[in-house]
Amino acid sequence: MSLSVQPKASLFINGAHVEGQGTELPVRYAFTGETIATLHEASAEQVAAACAAARAAQPAWAAMAPVERGRILGRAAALILQRNDELARIETLDTGKPIQETLVADWPSGAAALEYFAGLAATLTGHMIPLGRDWAYTRREPLGVCAGIGAWNYPSQIACWKAAPALVMGNTMVFKPSEETPLGALKLAEIFMEAGMPAGVFNVVQGRGEVGAALVTNPDVAKVSLTGSVPTGRRVYAAAAEGMRHVTMELGGKSPLIVFDDANLEDAVSAAILANFYSSGQICSNGTRVFLQEGIKENFLARMAERVKAVKMGDPLDPDTNHGPIINEGQAGKIRAAIEAGQAAGARLVCGGAGEGAFIPPTVFADATDDMAIATDEIFGPVLTALSFVDEDEVIARANGTGFGLAAGVFTQDLTRAHRVIARLEAGTCWINTYNLTPVEMPFGGVKMSGLGRENSAAAIEHYSQLKSVYVGMGGVDAPY
Ligand code: NDP
Repeated sequence: MSLSVQPKASLFINGAHVEGQGTELPVRYAFTGETIATLHEASAEQVAAACAAARAAQPAWAAMAPVERGRILGRAAALILQRNDELARIETLDTGKPIQETLVADWPSGAAALEYFAGLAATLTGHMIPLGRDWAYTRREPLGVCAGIGAWNYPSQIACWKAAPALVMGNTMVFKPSEETPLGALKLAEIFMEAGMPAGVFNVVQGRGEVGAALVTNPDVAKVSLTGSVPTGRRVYAAAAEGMRHVTMELGGKSPLIVFDDANLEDAVSAAILANFYSSGQICSNGTRVFLQEGIKENFLARMAERVKAVKMGDPLDPDTNHGPIINEGQAGKIRAAIEAGQAAGARLVCGGAGEGAFIPPTVFADATDDMAIATDEIFGPVLTALSFVDEDEVIARANGTGFGLAAGVFTQDLTRAHRVIARLEAGTCWINTYNLTPVEMPFGGVKMSGLGRENSAAAIEHYSQLKSVYVGMGGVDAPY
């Protein structure tokens, strides 16, 4: 069966498929290395044309009744769910992630975002403020054209998570997926059109970092929402600041997962598996620093070593596979270098290691120290670093001893301790006795270097809207002369 998933054209601008005029962009299937599509980057003129189309479409889109905008998003969600099998296959070919995951996690989570914000559409109002004789009110207004820039780990989910709150508020969007995974956003653009979205409301441009940079500094763009690494986030935030643009930054992390002695051992091991090895570890919120209290440490490591033996690495399109390849050779090389550095630094390799080709098995280091690179740097691969601790104050200080602040998790049966510890952790998204669940109802985002702004939930609306205050004079106007 051919793996070709060549789209009609590389870009989607103003309701039409348009071929890119820039450099070639081959799309490779991480499992076989086969080229499954060949796209072309957008030229500078095409980036400008996409922004101009989004700008032209915005007033009419914003003038539509909110419930009508919501209806279109709702129809798009239904189309996604109907076509989930086909879309999941494309997502697997684009990312290399197991079909077992893409069927349940990627597009379904994107559809949930569209459904959630569709439902919220008619509730997005301002406030009436009594002032005695006079009064005031606020109008919640869209920002205008929003630029969305995505990472390669959850390309379609990221596109939906950004588009749903932006569009429901009456903004329009130009989205640039990662050059590694350009296919999902094009599918989303087609589905939006089929759902009745007017031309120009959602546009897709392709390209590497320079295309993203051109988008961020385009004068039509009022807001930039990036999912990516901290270094890229810094650059994009700085470029956006020059035009006083709003930003949402969903960046990387090195999140702590703290396991106290009284934790349910099997659940804690399950959570650590999900927190480190799902999507072959290519998840920003992963709990890659696993702090184990002395009393549970060796049992935890023994169970982990036992349980990872059941991993099934292999063909991502095989429904039994639960561990896929790394997105590309360059990224696999970086992960291998991090594993070598961990061994060279003297950490104990409990299981896993360099692997072969595109595959890196679930890898667990124990007896690491806080200053080792495997405990300080985001690896973005299936590498768990276990650290041991004795008491609560100590582990909180050490968990917070990082520039990142995306996520954190605590495992304990002690109710008060769970909430006490969570309250003191410097992280935007936390879990108690579970890990990495990100339902659309719950705000998602980071603190410190891991970013700003929130995606999902009603909180996301604040980051795609601005308030206009209107003072209403109800009597005469007194002036001094
Ligand atoms: P990158 O930071 O390398 O890239 C992110 C996006 O930004 C890509 O589309 C990239 O384009 C683009 N880009 C690169 N340079 C610029 C620039 N100067 N101006 C505008 N856009 C630019 O991240 P990765 O794609 O490698 O993704 C991995 C990172 O993303 C990890 O650090 C991970 O933690 C983080 N991440 C965060 C999430 C969160 O929600 N907090 C979720 C998922 C990932 P191109 O790739 O085409 O060069």
